[in-house]
Amino acid sequence: MRTITVVGASLGGYSAAQQLRAQGFDGRLVVVGTEVHLPYDRPPLSKDFLKGRIGAADLALGEQQDFDELEAEWRLGEFAARLRPADAGIELYSGEQIGTDGVVIATGASTRVLPGSAGVGGVHTLRTLEDAQALREELTTGRPNVVVIGAGFIGAEVASSCAELGLDVTIVEAAELPLARVLGTRLASACAALHSEHGVAVRFGAGVEELRSAAGHVVGVRLSTGEELPADVVVAGIGVQPNTGWLSGSGLSLHDGVLCDSGGVTDLSNVVAVGDVARVFRPDLGRNVRTEHWATANGQPRIAVRNLLDGITNEQHTDMPYFWSDQYGVRIQFAGFVHPEDEVRILDGDIEDRCFLAQYERDGRPVGVLAFNHPRGFGRARRQLSRPTLDVATS
Ligand code: FAD
Ligand code: NAP
Repeated sequence: MRTITVVGASLGGYSAAQQLRAQGFDGRLVVVGTEVHLPYDRPPLSKDFLKGRIGAADLALGEQQDFDELEAEWRLGEFAARLRPADAGIELYSGEQIGTDGVVIATGASTRVLPGSAGVGGVHTLRTLEDAQALREELTTGRPNVVVIGAGFIGAEVASSCAELGLDVTIVEAAELPLARVLGTRLASACAALHSEHGVAVRFGAGVEELRSAAGHVVGVRLSTGEELPADVVVAGIGVQPNTGWLSGSGLSLHDGVLCDSGGVTDLSNVVAVGDVARVFRPDLGRNVRTEHWATANGQPRIAVRNLLDGITNEQHTDMPYFWSDQYGVRIQFAGFVHPEDEVRILDGDIEDRCFLAQYERDGRPVGVLAFNHPRGFGRARRQLSRPTLDVATS
């Protein structure tokens, strides 16, 4: 291959560019990214960046020298509008055509927008540096009442950061118990309890009926229970959708992500996909899985790039999903493919102390591990996880 184009210049795209060079690709490397920044890290946006502990410069995924050493042509602030089905060439929104022999799709995901929030000031989502800057600015201009909608990862971490900033926070979630479908009732309860233990008001089992605004700015949130919460700032963390719109008409199979084989290769052998946008076939589960975690976007490119350069799927993704989350001073870590019905065994510590190591077991075999402030035990237990053999729920 003489030219390879990576579309998406965030974690997955940067890791793919690094892997291309590390695995000996010495041809023309083009990296296209909608954002104007060189690749930066998203996890701190809801944590230390929001709390004002670090600045934008601390988010860079590499030093300038690391980026220079890639000898890549960066097309930042450019949107890939189309993947041509005939030759897999890339058309940019600017009109530029990139003739290419191989493509890495790393276009990630975008936040879902709360219905009725368009044009209402004070309502935020959080995905990009600009989102985080806008939210941070509003939190520091004396607006005390924050309503967080959705108690998934974004919601929980934003609520935690806002509570640490001394703001009045209420977290609203439609489900009776957030994360129960992922973690099971017992351990989801431990996560949910962190909010009220740290002074955050919770409204679980409550949907959002209406955003109330005055002079174009949000002033309250009316819930399905009839209650109206005063709100100066609203943050919606209600999930994401994979960025596949630009691929319609490309001939690639799209279904809540880009469908790939077990090595990240799409319907075209010279096009692979990685990270939040990739829905990869797992032979051990018997179906395709899309994983929205940092470790996946960072790790998948090693195998996908190898298969791209080989022109055939020589290696398969076998990693267990892994994520961490920092909330209220607790480092939460999870790995595995688990089902809410799996048996939970506490291996060490005590749930009540918010310092424990728990293992999910199925037919007596360990299939998942969750830790609160127990990094060493987590590392050991994670290495001992069994490969999944059943089709079970995942993120
Ligand atoms: P993305 O990071 O979404 O990047 C995709 C890039 O492609 C974007 O820059 C986008 O602008 C660009 N793009 C999209 N369409 C096009 C196009 N047509 N042309 C050109 N460019 C395009 N995970 C954890 O495991 N632990 C954490 O603690 C954690 N914290 C997080 C906190 C926040 C606030 C957020 C938002 C995410 C967090 N994550 C965390 C998830 C993790 O950051 C993501 O899984 C990871 O960023 C996915 O990387 P990606 O490169 O696949 O996609
Ligand atoms: P998420 O983890 O999918 O959680 C979204 C939550 O919002 C779910 O609990 C969902 O409930 C709920 N929800 C959906 N629609 C709703 C509505 N209309 N009203 C109220 N609640 C609603 O997504 P996220 O928290 O927005 O995070 C976005 C992305 O960032 C994800 O990819 C996530 O993995 C990533 N992220 C990861 C971390 C981490 O790993 N530590 C941290 C931050 C962000 P249902 O499930 O019942 O639909």
